Order: sequence, then C-alpha cells, then structure tokens
Amino acid sequence: MDTKTKEQNQQIGALMNAFVQHTVDFYNELDSYPVCPHTPQEILEHLQTQEIPSKGRNITHVYEEMLKEVYSHTILAQHPRSFSCIPSTASMLSWMGDVMSNAYNLHASCQVNGPAPYLVEKKLIRWMCDLAGYPKEAGGLFVSGGSIANLTALTAARDARLTYEERSKAVVYVSDQTHSSVAKGLLIIGFCKEQIHILPSDSDFRMDMDALKTAVKQDLKQDKKPFAVIASAGTTNTGSVDPLKEISELCQKYNMWMHVDGAFGASALLSKKCKKDLEGIENSDSLSWDAHKWLLQTYGCSMVLVRNQNTLINSFSAHPEYLKDAESSEGSIEFWDLGPELTRPARSLKLWLTLQTIGTEKLEAIIDHGCAMAELAEKLVSEKRDWEIISHAHFGVVNFRCVPDSNMPESQLAILNQEIAKTLTDSGFAQIYTTELKGKKVLRMCTINPETTEKDIRDTIERLEKIKETRLAH
Ligand SMILES: *Cc1c(COP(=O)(O)O)cnc(C)c1O
Repeated sequence: MDTKTKEQNQQIGALMNAFVQHTVDFYNELDSYPVCPHTPQEILEHLQTQEIPSKGRNITHVYEEMLKEVYSHTILAQHPRSFSCIPSTASMLSWMGDVMSNAYNLHASCQVNGPAPYLVEKKLIRWMCDLAGYPKEAGGLFVSGGSIANLTALTAARDARLTYEERSKAVVYVSDQTHSSVAKGLLIIGFCKEQIHILPSDSDFRMDMDALKTAVKQDLKQDKKPFAVIASAGTTNTGSVDPLKEISELCQKYNMWMHVDGAFGASALLSKKCKKDLEGIENSDSLSWDAHKWLLQTYGCSMVLVRNQNTLINSFSAHPEYLKDAESSEGSIEFWDLGPELTRPARSLKLWLTLQTIGTEKLEAIIDHGCAMAELAEKLVSEKRDWEIISHAHFGVVNFRCVPDSNMPESQLAILNQEIAKTLTDSGFAQIYTTELKGKKVLRMCTINPETTEKDIRDTIERLEKIKETRLAH
C-alpha cells in the first residue's frame, strides 16, 4: 500500500474516533432531542445541486457536511418518546457489533469464509428454535427484515405444499390484521390477489376461527387447494395474537402450512409472563422474527425459522461450479442454500454481542417493561374524560381515541384524532401515528423502547390532553 493511502487511512481513523465520541454524547442526550426534527429547505436544495465530482474532495469536509446535512435531520426511531410504527429499541451494543462486522466486511454466505461467524449464526438460530419449541430438524437464517423473512417462509410453504400444477388453484388465508408484507410476498412469488383469502378479525383483533373453518370448507368444495394459513403473533396494529393453537389444529387437519408472522411479537417468547400468549407457536411450520424490533438491534437484523430445515433447502439450494471451492465439503449445506441471498453481511454477530453482554434476564425485564408502559398508558388514558380505549394494551401496543361527543360523526372524529396526533408529533416532544381499526381512526402507541420511562408516558398523555383541550376550546 502506498504511503498516500496509508496517510489517508490515518486521517479517516481520526475522524472515526471523533465520530464515535460524538455518537456516545448523542445517545447519552437522546431524550433532549426532538423525536422528528424538521429538515431545513436550504439543506435539501444544497444536496439537490450537488453532483458527483470528477476530482474527489477533502474527506474532513465531506464528513462534516454529511454529519450536518444528512444525519442530523432524521426521525429518531430509537428516541424514548417515539411511539409510532414499531419504534427501534436499538442498543449501542448493536451499533458496536455493526461497526465491527462492517469493518471486517464479512461475507457470511458459507462456512469456509468464516467458520466462527458461521457457528455464531447457527447457534443463535438454534437458540431461537428452542425458544419457539421447534424440533431438532428445525433451522433458519438471518435475513434483512420481517418482510424478507415472510417472503422466504412463504416460498418454502409454496414448494412444500403445492405441486406446480396445483399453484393456480391454491388459496392462502390471512386476517384483516395481517401485515401487508405477507400479501406483497405472495404476489412476488407468483400468486394473485384472488388467491389471498382475507378473513375478518374478532373484537380482540384476532383471526376469526369460525370464518377460517368455513372458508376452508367452501374453498375445498369449489375444488380449490387451501395450502397455508398466516397467523400473526403480535399484529402491527394492536399487538394481538391469533389463536395459534386452534389454527395449528386446523392446519394439521387439512395439511396446510402454518406460518407465524412474529416479526414484532416473537420476542415475547423471552418473557415468562408473555410466553403463555404464544402457546401453539411450537406447532407452526415457519416463523418470522425481527431482532431489529424488540431485540435491541439496529436495522437489517431478522430471522426466518422453519420447523424442518429441509424445506428451505428444497426451495433455495444452489451449487454452481464457481462456488465449489467455497463449499466446506462435497454437497455441504451453506447459508446460500437456505434463502434468496448469496453475499450477505454477518447479521447475527451484533445480536450475539448484545446477548452475551446483557443476558436473558435483562432481556426478559425489557420485554416486560415494554408491556407495562403500554398498560400504564391505557390506565392514564382511561382515567380521562373524552377518551376511549379501542384496543387494550398487549405486547406493548395500545390504541385509543378522543371522543368528546358521542354524536360526533366518524368523519369528524377522524379529523380530530388525526390533528391531535399531528400536533403532538410536530411539537417534537413525542411521536404518535394514527391507524384505523374497524373503521375508526385511532391514536396508536407502541411503548417497547427500554429507555422509555413512566414519566415519558405520563408527560405524553398529559400533552395529548392539553392538545385536546386547546382544540375543543376553538
Ligand atoms: C414490522 C413487521 C413486518 C415487516 O418487517 P420489516 O422488518 O419491516 O420488513 C412484518 N410483520 C409484522 C407483524 C411486523 O410488525
């Protein structure tokens, strides 16, 4: 390496040291920052006019410019008062693991490239399979997110349960609370909309079993081929869990594949209190589980687990001539045999670093804390006039809305609640998004961040109350 490159590497190292300190300070003061900062128009205009230069620029200038213009104005999903979507629980440990894995630029496609990272991923997948109650033939893979985990599992389900000829007659069952990534995945792998049977959910937002049973029977009568049920373990809207046990019994009866979308809720397996709500998960054929939702990881860390690893191999195995030397032995099973990716980062290492450092007891306390914060929010909201709870706190999610007058039409209630959420979010103090449940526009809070305190919850509810009062005074 020439001296010039070495010199530049030194300079980059110095900037990175400064960046690490900057980031530590930033995280230590996180709750004093607005949750959703506004990006000044000048910054966007400046970026808009920038071109890729023909001669490179000074690294310090580029670094400072990007820090100021790009990184400083993003929504802080890991802020303790970010309650929208599934907020990030990312720990600094995960960030550290990310930095380490990226620095070594691990190519985690196979054993030969790194037997130790391979082993770590295998061990974590096994640990998760054990938590889910899967048998020894089980297996799985780290993927980038719940959407890809669902896509991967759905592909395995299709190939395990349908012949090529049967595909056009196939039907898959979801509920009106199933995450949109499931339908997206089904369309990607060749099904059409008409093959996705959307069932209603009951008053607790769980898949209606009677509707499911009737639908399967009717579809069979019409010479269709029911092949899979997608159950949710923690729906995005309300944290509800479908009746997993009953679904698994029905799947067994009709030889259907049972996929559990636990992208958000599977982490509750770590809590003794929550685990009983997931009974029946052990009978499923596949499970999606995001570590970047409730297992403290930065983005791009998720797992797809299957009851029998052969089902993944059956769908994804590939052994081209140019990878022969990368096989650990003739016909060995590598990560590239288990999913759509070949080149992939070692996503498991940051989770390993996190789990080794904090241990499972702390993790359990974090899950229970997330649930308790939503329960607190529910209690505080229900003590106030003009508010109603729409879904009870479950797995750290609660939905409610403002109803100042029972005669107010739905359309006006929708505008009112939308405005309350927007006013709070625009203030930067906390972020709450709305969702829609059974035709009602509601405020949804997801309180799983371990840094969220009781005070954060109390202050947020108080602010909602004040916003409501100001609004109604007009
Ligand atoms: C978040 C979520 C997904 C999608 O996961 P990504 O990691 O965002 O791709 C799927 N299903 C459920 C239930 C989710 O909460």
